Amino acid sequence: DNSLGDTDPEVQSIIADEKERQFRNLSLIASENFTSRAVMEAVGSCLTNKYSEGLPGKRYYGGNVNIDKMEILCQERALRAFHLDGEKWGVNVQPLSGSPANFEVYTAILNPHDRIMGLDLPHGGHLSHGFMTPKRRVSGTSIYFESMPYRLDESTGLVDYDMLEKTAILFRPKLIIAGASAYPRDFDYPRMRKIADSVGAFLMADMAHISGLVAASVVADPFEYCDIVTTTTHKSLRGPRGGMIFFKKDPVLGVDLESAINNAVFPGLQGGPHNHTIAGLAVSLKLAQSPEFKTYQKQVVANSRALADRLISLGYKLVSGGSDNHLVLVDLRPLGIDGARVEKILDLASITLNKNSVPGDKSALVPGGIRMGAPAMTTRGFTENDFESAADFIHEGVQIALAAKKAAPSSKVQDFMKFVESPDFPFTQRISE
Ligand code: PLP
Repeated sequence: DNSLGDTDPEVQSIIADEKERQFRNLSLIASENFTSRAVMEAVGSCLTNKYSEGLPGKRYYGGNVNIDKMEILCQERALRAFHLDGEKWGVNVQPLSGSPANFEVYTAILNPHDRIMGLDLPHGGHLSHGFMTPKRRVSGTSIYFESMPYRLDESTGLVDYDMLEKTAILFRPKLIIAGASAYPRDFDYPRMRKIADSVGAFLMADMAHISGLVAASVVADPFEYCDIVTTTTHKSLRGPRGGMIFFKKDPVLGVDLESAINNAVFPGLQGGPHNHTIAGLAVSLKLAQSPEFKTYQKQVVANSRALADRLISLGYKLVSGGSDNHLVLVDLRPLGIDGARVEKILDLASITLNKNSVPGDKSALVPGGIRMGAPAMTTRGFTENDFESAADFIHEGVQIALAAKKAAPSSKVQDFMKFVESPDFPFTQRISE
């Protein structure tokens, strides 16, 4: 068979460019990582050729002897990597990614229009936890279920558990979700368990961002308190792109989670599993049990703290005042600059991070913060000193962004921008939410 280069030099060249970009850039995207060669070999294997709807031993296609072995191996490693007793916990390793995994849980345990509470997106939650604006139900979760997000206490940047409790008593959710895309602290799982029990709700953790840290026991363990735990596999866990759903084997609130969740994955929302991904995931879960992985995750936390401390010493305001995990969220508003401008300037300097809303933000399009994470550059060998240097580079970028903002636009540009903002501007639909 012909190689990629022989068959399609165009695609090969884009991949080569992206490899170069990944190599050259200082990647501080909190949700990204560099997976290993071994994982990529497994993902690029012939397992992509096989259909295997169903579960090991119960397939709708023949020829699955090796696929069954692989999926069972992956399940066993998943339970071991998270220190779980196979008598008490089960896992489905077929979810195609984090958002499908979450929606599969919702369809497994909820009826349409049942009530859920997750952390609000502008306060660090994920779209798939029920995000909606006053005008629009943005995610499938808020379209098919009734969502009442909980929020942070804006004065501390920490989850407002008192308010969550009060709201839960009034709203009576059937599901409470602990987990975030931009929260630099641990969740108080015992407190959330109490709140869920007081209103008869399931408690689910979405540990997508922190699953590597959980496996290495360097942050609080959601399994001790939650009924269901979902995760992506490509963030701090450093595996291929995918998802997993862990569930308690004993019935919870009268629901057999094992069959409800397995049926929601297939045939509920998915068809054939991506067996090549499951093979890559099995490899990453083997690596996640190694002493080196624990050392790596400790370094991730130390690096994130070093980045946070340096930024604080440079005068930055951090949401929650610091970091206990892999990420740092900076509130740029006191400086009079927004996250979008800083992201753009740093992009030009090959520093990749993302603009992020911070508590109290008015606009999601021009948010007031930036989010940075340590997993990717820690994989590439960065230690505390390097992250301090990264903080200095970011500081330089912010100074440049501030100077660029101060440079007054010419009157022609000002007139044009007024036109763009006006209802007469014909080319783009204005988004005002
Ligand atoms: N859950 C959390 C907390 C996330 O941060 C993300 C992605 O960033 C997801 C779920 C969704 O994962 P995916 O993008 O793989 O659908």
